[in-house]
Amino acid sequence: MGLDTAPVRNVSEPTFVVPVVPKATEPTIKAAPIIDLATPTSVSPSVSSIGASSERPGERPMARELPDQLVEPAIRTAESLPALREVLGECDRCKLCDARTNIVFGVGNPDAELMFVGEGPGADEDEQGIPFVGRAGQLLTRIITGGMGLTRDDVYIANVIKCRPPGNRNPEPDEIVACEPFLHRQIAIVRPRVIVTLGKFATQALLRETRPISKLRGNWLDYRGVPVMPTFHPAYLLRNPSDKRIVWADIQLVMNRLGIPKPAAKE
Ligand code: SF4
Repeated sequence: MGLDTAPVRNVSEPTFVVPVVPKATEPTIKAAPIIDLATPTSVSPSVSSIGASSERPGERPMARELPDQLVEPAIRTAESLPALREVLGECDRCKLCDARTNIVFGVGNPDAELMFVGEGPGADEDEQGIPFVGRAGQLLTRIITGGMGLTRDDVYIANVIKCRPPGNRNPEPDEIVACEPFLHRQIAIVRPRVIVTLGKFATQALLRETRPISKLRGNWLDYRGVPVMPTFHPAYLLRNPSDKRIVWADIQLVMNRLGIPKPAAKE
């Protein structure tokens, strides 16, 4: 059983299945806000020519530090994920604190080579305090396990925004400004070899991009020296199951880059 039931030329399929839901006509996940932040950044916004050959095996790029005059010293100096979580505390740095049940900080291997970055918590994540545990999260888990042959404990998973926006609305610019230093620091601490951004919002927020995810996905981009592979959000795939083969193609690029062998097909 594959990522998608339709045969796809030159793309092998993994062994996970999602419920088929009616195809949505809306091609985007959400209308993300324009990211226009005052904080300067060294991120290159263009599609890079990063390729597997440009990286020595096993070497991890060091995420460069934020230009951090606007970042709290305690955030930029936190040297571990628990220390950073302690700095976050019972955060009230933005108005999303009012309606949240739990802060969804991040989960997984603090030394992961692969990091997934999503947009923000939904209802299930808010309830449990864990990222990607709802229907979309279960699909991401199947991509990680059935598709890549890994476990969630092998990777690190975090969101741009740590608290659920009411009604799952898009995060607003002031909320992104308040929260994203924690994601930047998480990346600097974990030092992944590859980041996969899930969907338009996470991709645009992390990379200061304005191009649509449909144009960005499948291309290696750069976040402060770390290769980034944007792909569609699992929630989008639940609405558009025929695009699962596209995500699988993106995931295979990531696996090739990290030297992850394709799991053996089940009998
Ligand atoms: S979204 Fe981020 S900055 Fe806003 S209250 Fe939650 S943890 Fe704090």
